[in-house]
Order: sequence, then structure tokens, then C-alpha cells
Amino acid sequence: MHFHNGHIKLPGVRTYIDPHTYEDPNQAVHEFAKEIEASCITIERVIGAGEFGEVCSGRLKLPGKRELPVAIKTLKVGYTEKQRRDFLGEASIMGQFDHPNIIHLEGVVTKSKPVMIVTEYMENGSLDTFLKKNDGQFTVIQLVGMLRGIAAGMRYLSDMGYVHRDLAARNILINSNLVCKVSDFGLSRVLEDDPEAAYTTRVRSNRMHF
Ligand code: AMP
Repeated sequence: MHFHNGHIKLPGVRTYIDPHTYEDPNQAVHEFAKEIEASCITIERVIGAGEFGEVCSGRLKLPGKRELPVAIKTLKVGYTEKQRRDFLGEASIMGQFDHPNIIHLEGVVTKSKPVMIVTEYMENGSLDTFLKKNDGQFTVIQLVGMLRGIAAGMRYLSDMGYVHRDLAARNILINSNLVCKVSDFGLSRVLEDDPEAAYTTRVRSNRMHF
């Protein structure tokens, strides 16, 4: 057994660690996400609007690795310390997962500005928009394949002791091979205004913190 920032790690059992349990949120980011040099990233175009700033597509070229298409979430200028913490909190969560149906984190840029979160690129974007745009064009086998992928991702999260709390087609991304991946691990959901807040709070307290 290893003690790890006050968390007990059981060999062979991987469990999610809530970044909130870290006194210093920066420590959580650096524990779970790789720092990327901004010079390794080429931004190509804006593909969406995130809660904290633009989402862009681009390329990542790490030394000794081949170039990868990536999505880049940026933190808009003039952010507060809390916004920075919440923004990077998503990376601290995503960086703990390793599954073909969970969006893969490449790393973060925190040492220069703009602050960025770099993930694998999903060519077909969010599932809700994609399905509406291509209504009636998929076979049942294809649709069931998408569902199986989402279910496998959610099963993995559950096995890790993580409760997503916002599973919806808009939070699933789909790539050019029609592989669906769970995304949106934001920490900033407004629980107070949520009619299901009591329920959500109860679920949250059931998260396992080892
Ligand atoms: P989010 O802030 O995660 O809700 O992202 C906002 C929008 O950006 C999404 O609805 C997608 O259209 C797009 N997007 C986010 N991440 C990716 C990604 N990894 N690949 C492609 N598009 C993405």
C-alpha cells in the first residue's frame, strides 16, 4: 500500500481521486496531466465555444512523437483564480482515465498563456449535433455500436468510483470511425440552482476517496 498525498493507493485497484481533496489544486493538475510546451501546439481553427473560452482544433507535435490532431480548450484572458482552478480541474479528472471510450487528455499548458487543455481530436464533434445532422442515415448496428461504446465508457467511470452526473448526447464526442467517447468532466456545475441538487449532493458524497 502506498500513501499518496494522503490518499491510500491499493495495488491493482485504480480509483478516481477528487481534485478537491488536494489543498493545492495545482498539485492535482501536475500529478494527473502532463505539462506541454506551447511551442508544440499549432492552433488551426475555432470549432466551438467552451464554458471558459474557445475550443479549437489543431496539431500537437511532441519531441520524438508523430504529429497528432488535437482539440485545444483555452481559458479566456481576464480569468479569476477560481475560473482557472475550475478550468484545470477538468484536466485533473480526465487525466486519471485511460479507456477507449473516454476522451483522452494529451496534456495542459499552464506555464504560459493562454492556459490550455489539449485532448484527442474527435472529427465528428458532439453526438447530439452529429445525430441531428445525419438523421436516419445509420443502421441499427451502427447506432448500437455507438451505444455500446458509451455504456463501456460509463461502466469504466463507475468502476473507477467516478459519478459523471451529466450523461447526455451533447457530452459525448464522436470520431471519424464513429467511436463515441464520454467527455465533459467540468467541476463547475451549479448545484444550488439544480432542482436535483439534493440528489446530486447525495450521489457526490458517495464518491470514493481513497
Ligand atoms: P465543451 O466545452 O467540452 O462543451 O466543448 C464545446 C464544444 O467544442 C463541443 O460541443 C464540441 O463541439 C467541441 N469539442 C470539444 N472537445 C472536442 C474534441 N475533443 N474534439 C472535437 N470537438 C470538440
